[in-house]
Amino acid sequence: MKNGRTISIKDPKLQRIRNNFRLIILEECSRRKSEIRNQEYNFTRDKDGNYVKPSEEGVNILQKLNDKSWEIERPLRASIVKCALCGKHNRDMTYHQKSHSWYCVQCYKRRLSWLDSFHIKILYYWANHIKTSGFHN
Ligand SMILES: [Zn+2]
Repeated sequence: MKNGRTISIKDPKLQRIRNNFRLIILEECSRRKSEIRNQEYNFTRDKDGNYVKPSEEGVNILQKLNDKSWEIERPLRASIVKCALCGKHNRDMTYHQKSHSWYCVQCYKRRLSWLDSFHIKILYYWANHIKTSGFHN
């Protein structure tokens, strides 16, 4: 996808249909993540709701549940369904290539220089982190 490309819908009826589709996706993702959180809760709480340290098997299951949650969240964050900055779903979206993410037109215009510098800072951070931690060896 080309940097700065905006997907825009002018017709209010089509906007409503787009927004409703996005909402259906968001609600389904939210429902699935809520189920995962409930399962996580059961592994870390006793019947009175007090925290209990999970067993080694429980830790493994919690890690798998966390991975499962990210399998939902990661594609959602990179999708056009909601703005990666403000989270709104009912706006036209613009693609930002460096972050491989979609932002609403308002956030994109207001924060473009910040987005560019922010992602450059992250690249520098990871470059230094990999260099200092010896991760590349
Ligand atoms: Zn936004």
